This record gives sequence, structure tokens and C-alpha cells, in this order.
Amino acid sequence: MATSRRQFLERSLGVFAFSVLATSSFGLAARSAFAAKKEKAAGANEVPADDAVASAIGYVPDASKVDAKANPTFKKGQNCSSCALFTKSNEGWGKCQMIQSGLVHSNGWCRSYNKKA
Ligand code: SF4
Repeated sequence: MATSRRQFLERSLGVFAFSVLATSSFGLAARSAFAAKKEKAAGANEVPADDAVASAIGYVPDASKVDAKANPTFKKGQNCSSCALFTKSNEGWGKCQMIQSGLVHSNGWCRSYNKKA
């Protein structure tokens, strides 16, 4: 009986220690991912909303919000990351050969979209 109780306590302690370790590891990973995302967003000089070129070519940072009636050339699935004029800078952002004032979002779109070969 004493052995059984001892085994139970040892196993419980092992499960508890594993839980604490797993929880703290997950927390550190989540915090690191958040910090990295924040750094990328902060480091990204996004195209200003009033950029004349971006406005002229109808750039939007989220292709899912393109007005398909006003932009009949738009096809679902098109976005900056698959455009020949896009060069990835970091996760979620890149340089566009058309817009020089800042980075465009990889999920963005404009009427100058040109599918990568
Ligand atoms: S030209 Fe291409 S990369 Fe530039 S904003 Fe338009 S879709 Fe995005």
C-alpha cells in the first residue's frame, strides 16, 4: 500500500511538473511570436493612405475588400504576393515596383496586378 501511494505521488508530481513546463514553454513561444509580429509591423513602413500612385492604381491592403464591380480585372485569389512586381521584405510585407513610398501588404491588390510567371 505504501509503495502504491508513493508511486501515485511520484506520478502526480511528474504530471504536474510536465504541465508547468509545457505551459511556460507555450507562453514563451506565444510571446516570441507576438513580439516578432509586432517588430515586423513596426519596422514596416506601410504605404501611406494618401499616396498618389497607390490611389491612382487602386491599391488596397486587403484584396478581400476589392470592389469587384469597380475592378472587373480582379480575380479572387489575386494579391500582391503572387504579383510579378512584388518583392517580399518580411512576413506579410514587400516592396512593389509601382509604389515607392512604402511597403505593400502581401494580401494587398491593385489594378496593375501582373501574375508572376
Ligand atoms: S502592382 Fe502588384 S505588388 Fe504592386 S500593389 Fe499592385 S498587386 Fe501589389
